[in-house]
Amino acid sequence: MLSVIIPAYNEEEVLEEFYGRITSALDKIDMPYELVFVNDGSRDRTLPILEDICRQDERAVVIDLSRNFGKEIAVSAGIDFAKGDAVVIIDADLQDPPELIPDLIAQWRNGYDNVYARRTSRDGESVLKKLTSYLFYRVIGRMTNIDIPADTGDFRLLSRRAVDALKQLPERNRFMKGLYSWIGYPSIAVEYRRDPRHAGQTKWNYWKLWNFALEGITSFTEVPLKLASYIGGFIAFAAFCFGIYIIVDTLFYGNEVKGYPSLIVTVLFLGGIQLIFIGILGEYLGRAFAEAKQRPLYFVNKVVKK
Ligand code: UDP
Ligand code: MG
Repeated sequence: MLSVIIPAYNEEEVLEEFYGRITSALDKIDMPYELVFVNDGSRDRTLPILEDICRQDERAVVIDLSRNFGKEIAVSAGIDFAKGDAVVIIDADLQDPPELIPDLIAQWRNGYDNVYARRTSRDGESVLKKLTSYLFYRVIGRMTNIDIPADTGDFRLLSRRAVDALKQLPERNRFMKGLYSWIGYPSIAVEYRRDPRHAGQTKWNYWKLWNFALEGITSFTEVPLKLASYIGGFIAFAAFCFGIYIIVDTLFYGNEVKGYPSLIVTVLFLGGIQLIFIGILGEYLGRAFAEAKQRPLYFVNKVVKK
């Protein structure tokens, strides 16, 4: 059986269209399937629409989370719930074409555990978003040992053993794109064109994207922490040399108490560097704190099924 996980947060405008397209795409495959909708604390009519769908279609089920937890956790909830031998994760807004699912299944049958969809184009997204996303994948690619494929989102198919591996990862800070790669197993890309959103609004803004990038970096690399030691070491060394120079200079030529500019520049520079690295420490410490609390990832309000 195939399980399809659909996280949905305020998607009232697209769900009916989505349901129509996904069922017509899936009816062409020779496999039974279930649709696992995760309602991530939507404030619009998403839940009633999904309940309606479940009333008519016994293949559909809604997991209604107790509040909005964010897409990564909504997907994790769906993964915990999915029973299929293969699991597809797809957005509700039709940016990921359901018609690609048969291609994903074909590669899964070829023996791949992680079949991810790679977008060759992204229509309807701003140049700035494309640029920042491009840079993010390049930067994180340089900083980590694991291979996070560029230009892929969550749209993918995972085999049962990949799903079981994901379920064993206990972290609270779930940077899913990294986790999919971290578990390993044979993976392959299937290419597609990313369409603009069918209707409704993206839930991302640049502040959220920035935090998402921080999440990815802090979850998968300690390079920023190392940077602190290296830059700190370099500055300490430079300061030491400068100190020797000052001492020698004073011994030979005396001191007339000049040098306010160099003094203030040094003080400000060191202060700034220290604040930056205290900030980086804080980012890691905050996440370590979240992990230490060991809170459950999510709570389910109710599960609706025919
Ligand atoms: N989503 C979610 N919880 C959230 C935000 C988004 O479940 O807090 C879902 C949303 O309903 C959609 C998918 O995640 O199905 C992708 O969201 P969106 O289209 O806003 O992201 P983008 O495509 O712009 O990256
Ligand atoms: Mg979208």
